[in-house]
Amino acid sequence: MFEILAKKISYISFDDQKTIQRAFEFAKKAHEGQKRKSGEPYITHCVATAEILAELKLDAPSIAAGLLHDTLEDTKTTETELKELFGEEITFLIKGTTKVSKLQYEAGKSSNENFRRLFLVMAEDIRVALIKLADRLHNMRTIKYHKPIDQRRIAQKTIEIYAPIANRLGISSIKGELEDLCFPILYPREYHWLTEQINHKYEERIAYLKRVETIIRDELIKAKVNIIQLDFRAKRYFSLYKKLQKYDMDFSKIYDLVAFRIIVPNIVDCYSALGAIHALWRPLPGRIKDYIAMPKPNGYKSIHTTVFCVDGVITEFQIRTPLMHQENELGVAAHWFRDEMQKEPHKQLSRRSKFAWVEQLREWQKENPGTKEFFNRLKIDFFKDRIFVFTPHGDVIDLPDGATPVDFAYRIHSDLGNQCVGAKINGKMGTINEPLQNSDVVEIIIQKNKKPSRNWLSFVKTSEARRRIKQALSITQVPKNMLAKRYQIKLTVQDRTGMVKDIANIFSQMNINIETLNTSKQKGETTLIVDAPIENKRQLNKLITHLKKIKGVIQITPLILN
Ligand code: MN
Repeated sequence: MFEILAKKISYISFDDQKTIQRAFEFAKKAHEGQKRKSGEPYITHCVATAEILAELKLDAPSIAAGLLHDTLEDTKTTETELKELFGEEITFLIKGTTKVSKLQYEAGKSSNENFRRLFLVMAEDIRVALIKLADRLHNMRTIKYHKPIDQRRIAQKTIEIYAPIANRLGISSIKGELEDLCFPILYPREYHWLTEQINHKYEERIAYLKRVETIIRDELIKAKVNIIQLDFRAKRYFSLYKKLQKYDMDFSKIYDLVAFRIIVPNIVDCYSALGAIHALWRPLPGRIKDYIAMPKPNGYKSIHTTVFCVDGVITEFQIRTPLMHQENELGVAAHWFRDEMQKEPHKQLSRRSKFAWVEQLREWQKENPGTKEFFNRLKIDFFKDRIFVFTPHGDVIDLPDGATPVDFAYRIHSDLGNQCVGAKINGKMGTINEPLQNSDVVEIIIQKNKKPSRNWLSFVKTSEARRRIKQALSITQVPKNMLAKRYQIKLTVQDRTGMVKDIANIFSQMNINIETLNTSKQKGETTLIVDAPIENKRQLNKLITHLKKIKGVIQITPLILN
């Protein structure tokens, strides 16, 4: 059973291969007697997971952890034992994978929220995410052994969480396979419709592309472009289905049902090939996509163009280098491969420019695992404008960027928000209005029966905090509001410097808060209109008396607004 895996790890050093073999022997023994739903020995799953990781060309600790990934959860093996036998790094990866498995798919929470929670755990080390993806891929490949109801549950979680994670990590091979495995389970009718529709379309299309292939091959040779690979690939079912939905299920609008893929040695050749194609056939306006100059957010690089090809049939071409191709298929995983293979210094240069954020992520993560900077970086690329903070119990709270301890408190409970007087951030006293940072641990200090202050409204970031503060304020301030009536006081005055200031001073002296103040001039008369809450008739009369004493005030007319 180990033989196939052994062949797949030939890129790993001999010593590390031995560690992997030890992990295999250990896992086999630990899972002794356990069976998969298929009836096969459990170890087949562990080996299959490790094989997927080896195909992604991951490092030795990941592959060993892939073999051992279920030992903590499903066998008597302890953490101490793993540490002794396989060291800290492998144990850390196994623990991370186990933690992800235990994070339950919480009912009532949006899939987005589940996704974030799960991702946060995986983000501790991207390898954990990759091991989990390999584990999930093998489980999906063998899903037919489950009952239909379980199949749906597993497929649902796969398509909502794992396929998007694979996509964000740029591993299109795993993303595509996961989606295609889920498709018939989640949307059986649509799946059957689609497969029936396209079977003959594919055949027709491929016959046509074979004709085109000869022409393009000759043309590229004439243009002195070396062809490393020239073939055509059918679009994956689920991604085709999603695209069709956008185009009213009209196949004639899908130009990349089967598309050409041209792999050439370098970037210059990519553009030469593009030029050669455009010299032959007229491109469709707006359909030339240069993902080399502008890669997709997940790192995808290629040039796409769609042309009016032979017989006027609209056809898509994708042009890229071998390196781009590898990265497009393997995404983040491609980097381990190159780390292992990193012998030629000139390759290092191109490494920097590609997929830079993953590189940075990995570097920061290596230097300071789990630090703020790492999380901040992650945020930029994955969860724009969101931060993740923790309760003292380790629950993840997801807030918008700039959120404060007050937002945090209201997110947990309205009482906690209302009574909030202070916050401990990472064990130190903080203020309730300071913006929280990713991965902060926040503890709220309360004062019983305290009410929120109006000025909290000036710094809170979440609408729920805002709403609850207003709610609490309107309840506590009912008596005062009933006493204070809003007045509009109209003053006719002589226009002179300092007039407005003198009037405002009177209001201030009497502790009356001016809400608005408007000035207008008409026929040589200046009118000031002041809106302000005034508690009672006595206060109003006193105010008028004081205002009358101001030099240049001609007339005062109070008006009740409510
Ligand atoms: Mn597993």
